[in-house]
Amino acid sequence: MEELEAVLTRQPLFSCRQRSAKPFFRTPIVYPKMRMPGTLYIVATPIGNLADITIRALDVLRSADIIACEDTRHTRKLLTHYEISTKLVSYHEHNEDARAEELAKKLAAGASIAVVSDAGTPGICDPGFKIVGRAIEAGANVIAIPGACAFVVAAVTSGLATDAIYFGGFLPAKSGERRRRLAEVADIPATLIFYEAPHRIAASLKDCVAVLGDRSAAAARELTKLHEGTRRGRLSELASYYETNAAKGEFVLVIERASEEQVSTTPEPDRFAARVAELENEGLDRRAAMRKAAKEFGLARAEAYRLLQAQKER
Ligand code: SAM
Repeated sequence: MEELEAVLTRQPLFSCRQRSAKPFFRTPIVYPKMRMPGTLYIVATPIGNLADITIRALDVLRSADIIACEDTRHTRKLLTHYEISTKLVSYHEHNEDARAEELAKKLAAGASIAVVSDAGTPGICDPGFKIVGRAIEAGANVIAIPGACAFVVAAVTSGLATDAIYFGGFLPAKSGERRRRLAEVADIPATLIFYEAPHRIAASLKDCVAVLGDRSAAAARELTKLHEGTRRGRLSELASYYETNAAKGEFVLVIERASEEQVSTTPEPDRFAARVAELENEGLDRRAAMRKAAKEFGLARAEAYRLLQAQKER
């Protein structure tokens, strides 16, 4: 009580007779500078339609100390549209390591940094993952501001099951590697989703038919943009459509999961033998076809022989 009164009436707590120390309120107290770790915001931006951005995302972009973005000119357009003038720094695949280090130091000193990519959610086939790791090490808060993401939009408009989804990012550019990747995921009990470039869509669909069988699929194009559209059908129908019609814009491929029947009646030996036969049709002799197919499926030679043998005996 006495102490409280002393504070309220600004009386010294100790009289000079009691202690030689000076009254505490007359001595300026110098606190050591505390450095609170800052916050890293992973901010989703539109994948086409500029209106697809949340109010919270705009608040964060407006109030952050820095926005780290893939392409400053591209992000400047978005910020100009929303009259935001926060400082931009580049953060892209070619400076990701060095920049993540630099930004982590700023976070440790208390900065608030927003990360955006050219479109959609940073870290989803875009830079983001490294700075998150460095921010966690620096003791910073990491907060996502959710929003557009192309594979989610494609999934929910595809008409295919969304109870379980496997998102495989971009398929490899070369057919052999692509077929190997597809073989790895063929039996996953989930709808399969991949990003694909327009100039590879026809070849990828062809590889999908060869490795996955003729499943239902959807090719979602230019989502949220003027020429948005989703083409649905069997993989073979989509493949022949894009063989004769030029694919333009950005694409997401959504593919039906393997049916139980497919998993049990179209086991690996059949798929492998079908690929060997296809390569023979393309002009390779049997040995070379088998070697090439084994490489594509990631099989040792002995395993490849075993599969062909198993297929013959069925
Ligand atoms: N971070 C993005 C996201 O959250 O979806 C993905 C960026 S990745 C570099 C770009 C790829 O995403 C494109 O090649 C395309 O496959 C897909 N994509 C992005 N925007 C799209 C859109 N509006 N329509 C269809 N696909 C899109």
